[in-house]
Amino acid sequence: MLSCRFLNKFLSFNINLLSFCCRGGIMKDPPEFPYLSTPEETIVNFLDNRKRIHDELRGGNKNSICSGCQLLTEFDESVLVEKIENINISFYPSVCQCKCVYCGYADHKTLNNYEEAKKSKHAEYLSVILPYLEKNGFLNKDRLYIQCSPGEITIHPHKELILESIQKYRCGFLTNAFVYDEKIAEVLSQTKSFVMHSIDAGTRETYYKIKGFDLFEKVLDTLQKYKQRGGVVLKYIVLPEINDNDRDFDGVIEVLKTLKLRKLIIGKDNREQTSANYQKLCRSVPLLMRKLQENSINYELQPLFGNYEQLIHQQYNEMERA
Ligand code: SF4
Ligand code: SF4
Repeated sequence: MLSCRFLNKFLSFNINLLSFCCRGGIMKDPPEFPYLSTPEETIVNFLDNRKRIHDELRGGNKNSICSGCQLLTEFDESVLVEKIENINISFYPSVCQCKCVYCGYADHKTLNNYEEAKKSKHAEYLSVILPYLEKNGFLNKDRLYIQCSPGEITIHPHKELILESIQKYRCGFLTNAFVYDEKIAEVLSQTKSFVMHSIDAGTRETYYKIKGFDLFEKVLDTLQKYKQRGGVVLKYIVLPEINDNDRDFDGVIEVLKTLKLRKLIIGKDNREQTSANYQKLCRSVPLLMRKLQENSINYELQPLFGNYEQLIHQQYNEMERA
């Protein structure tokens, strides 16, 4: 039968709704289920709808909300476990004190909105929905991964309740690392969780240009402290003509070595790119990959590069042969 990995295994908390996959990511109008008056009703509605969509796809219904999605593939029914393995916490409005040039949530209504974040019901819903899923056997606890990215978690008004709800599971905390948080460090030391930081620069000047704050050294210090307690993952969003130069690439490799990290995630700005920018990425990303390889550091290209990924690899192979 047709299904997709999001429909089977994902649960995403978004702006007052639950969903399987991202709006704008794959389908223009993906299935989304607004918060109902209680968290219990909300999760029951989500699970019922998931079952309904599966039944529609099983029956070959061409009018299902997922019909036509390019991510639908043929699944053997016996492997369709339908237990949730990935939970994405992307509550908004939220708070973040950073000003990344590529931030998709930069408007004032969405970020830096402490009062709205405080009023929101997200953390309360999370704190009921997770135990409900566990108690009723809907979680694959051995493989469960929770991505915690509700703006900046360290300054979120409901940080305590969010952490309390997720701390026993394996989590990735996306953080700008401006602030070191002892409670998060505790979670790292007790589970296989990690913090993820998009460093995007190898020099203080470039860091300032991208993040809007002169905090390169402070952030490195925070990451060092987290590293002493558990996992740290670094990401580098390559931005043409901002951070795609030798100095920054060499600088980030030094950072990786200092933190004793063996891998870098390479990403791109999520916003629409011109083809000229893609051409630039096809030249600079292979350069970064090569430098990492020369320093025995692994890399992972995020799937965001789409059709250009093949060109990046071609360019990289040509560099290797030269
Ligand atoms: S089939 Fe497409 S729209 Fe439906 S849940 Fe999967 S990714 Fe989302
Ligand atoms: S750290 Fe994340 S939420 Fe904060 S400004 Fe940067 S991209 Fe936006």
